[in-house]
Amino acid sequence: MFSIRSIFRPQQLRPSSLFSLHSSYSSSTSASAASIQADRTIREGPRNDWTRREIKDVYDSPLLDLLFHGALVHRHAQNFREVQQCTLLSIKTGGCSEDCSYCPQSSRYSTGVKAQKLMTKEDVMEAAKKAKEAGSTRFCMGAAWRDTVGRKTNFNQILDYVKEIRDMGIEVCCTLGMLEKQQAQELKKAGLTAYNHNLDTSREYYPHIITTRTYDERLKTLEYVREAGINVCSGGIIGLGEAEEDRVGLLHTLATLPTHPESVPINALLAVKGTPLQDQKPVEIWEMIRMIATARIVMPKAMVRLSAGRVRFSMPEQALCFLAGANSIFTGEKLLTTPNNDFDADQLMFKVLGLIPKAPSFPEDEERSFESENCQEAVSSSG
Ligand code: SF4
Repeated sequence: MFSIRSIFRPQQLRPSSLFSLHSSYSSSTSASAASIQADRTIREGPRNDWTRREIKDVYDSPLLDLLFHGALVHRHAQNFREVQQCTLLSIKTGGCSEDCSYCPQSSRYSTGVKAQKLMTKEDVMEAAKKAKEAGSTRFCMGAAWRDTVGRKTNFNQILDYVKEIRDMGIEVCCTLGMLEKQQAQELKKAGLTAYNHNLDTSREYYPHIITTRTYDERLKTLEYVREAGINVCSGGIIGLGEAEEDRVGLLHTLATLPTHPESVPINALLAVKGTPLQDQKPVEIWEMIRMIATARIVMPKAMVRLSAGRVRFSMPEQALCFLAGANSIFTGEKLLTTPNNDFDADQLMFKVLGLIPKAPSFPEDEERSFESENCQEAVSSSG
């Protein structure tokens, strides 16, 4: 039987001197919530009994203090130099029946995005091969669908794509809308590593953004994915016009799931002309840092992904995000339909910042997911 402390084992780069630095720092200042909760996370490991108030207090901590403690937790829970590179390809673009207010692929808005059919196997494999050659260790396929129900032919094609890409030795992820239990099981059998299904925002603000499916339907899909043994990738978007309380609400929902998502993408809205959110003002780097550092403290073992919107941030700004706890990015020319960072600029950034690409890992190769154990331990120890 593992204890939480033994399971929450730090990586080889754990600098023990940080403990003493941190202790002396804390004792010489009045401790912020970020400091108190980071200390607790470092001592106890991941937990899923967070109260919304606790997360709000962390989120509201003085920014540099929050950044510092996000960085401390990051160094204890992760290899701080490793950054996962994922490539996201839109395999079926546009013509979506949903009304997500931020999305240029909804058929309800005039954004110039044309509806296309599912990409052929040849084209998808070519893109996956290129992504692997460019250093990506995860290939994510996105389809602009409400769900996959009634799309048997397309779904079977995607199962085939998943198998082939997994055989290339890289992780495979899909984002295809809502799933049924059976479909999640079939994706697992095909070798899917992770399934992305974002919650987008807080439960309270969600109806202002999407009306065509509910928050609970989203959570149900996450449940099916988790039950099937597929890693959960779920995060949200900031800059939708939400209040800071909604950002806290999103993190609270994710951090109190029975098991934390293995990946938590934090997106900054890229407002697209023609969508209802076209006039939203751009997210500032300080807002991203606040979200990332809070996510790192409350979900220490998750891969926190600096996702859409990264293209607007300079290298020094991205460096602050990595320092705060981000350890995953999307690479490739486009993020579905919006622009992404240049490949050469990313290569240079890795070199300048001393980052190293994270190697792929496959659930079937691991004894058990550390995070799963941690959260289950937390549940039993609090019950
Ligand atoms: S976010 Fe996904 S579900 Fe929503 S409109 Fe865009 S493609 Fe459709």
